[in-house]
Amino acid sequence: MPELPEVESICREISPCLSGAKILDVNVLLPRILRSGDAASAIGREILSVRRRAKFIDLALDGGVSLVFHLGMTGQLLWDYTESLEDRYVRAILITNNGRLSFRDVRTLGGIWVVHPEQKFWDKLGPDPFSAGFSADYLQESLAGRSSAIKLNLLDQSIVGGIGNIYASEILFRAEIHPLASSCTLKAAVCVKIVEETRRTLQSAIESSGTTFRDFRLSDGREGEFAEFLQVYGRGNQPCRKCGTLIVRIVQAQRSTYFCPTCQPLNNRNRPPAAKRKR
Ligand SMILES: [Zn+2]
Repeated sequence: MPELPEVESICREISPCLSGAKILDVNVLLPRILRSGDAASAIGREILSVRRRAKFIDLALDGGVSLVFHLGMTGQLLWDYTESLEDRYVRAILITNNGRLSFRDVRTLGGIWVVHPEQKFWDKLGPDPFSAGFSADYLQESLAGRSSAIKLNLLDQSIVGGIGNIYASEILFRAEIHPLASSCTLKAAVCVKIVEETRRTLQSAIESSGTTFRDFRLSDGREGEFAEFLQVYGRGNQPCRKCGTLIVRIVQAQRSTYFCPTCQPLNNRNRPPAAKRKR
């Protein structure tokens, strides 16, 4: 699944192709992939910039309109994809005077939105992990009153925009925090660590994701560099790369979490609420 580093890489890759280009047509092949707005209102507009917001790709058009993409589980944005008309998984094609951008999505959990300035599309989204708004103070305040597990709150896009399931496990491993730790009990120093490791983990993933992204697009080569990058995710019952203890897999909110019980101890201060312990 494309997460923040992959989405950032895609933005960097398509930005030189799209910035300054004029939209000639938006060909929506699967109507429900257009989640809101009228695709026709994007036609004739210039693409001013391409930026990532959380895991969204935001094409800012003239007139304050945005064309927003989310890749969901299997979405891909392919520049000048020659087989786009024969490929039944291509759901929409953006035709510009500079070339074509195909939105390919096998499982169709992704989407496209045409957003007008008066819409409050971004209001519920928390700060970007790399922005000044995502500070340790902000994190501690956001977690106040939340006894739920820290991993679930890292996935809450209203707290911080862009962290997905893979990187939530990776960040907590690097910060040496147990994924079940009760969020509101985390001390200021722990929040500092989480913020630092969030940025460090995502940054190094962005740096290595040129390769990750190409592998991902070919869909057969996700091993290699990406697998080496991962310290815990997908490594259940394999030895921890730091201490050799076997990595444990648990399920939180129907999704896999991986951690090292030695490197990420659950101390008394960070015990989860009683209901969570029963599982
Ligand atoms: Zn370990």
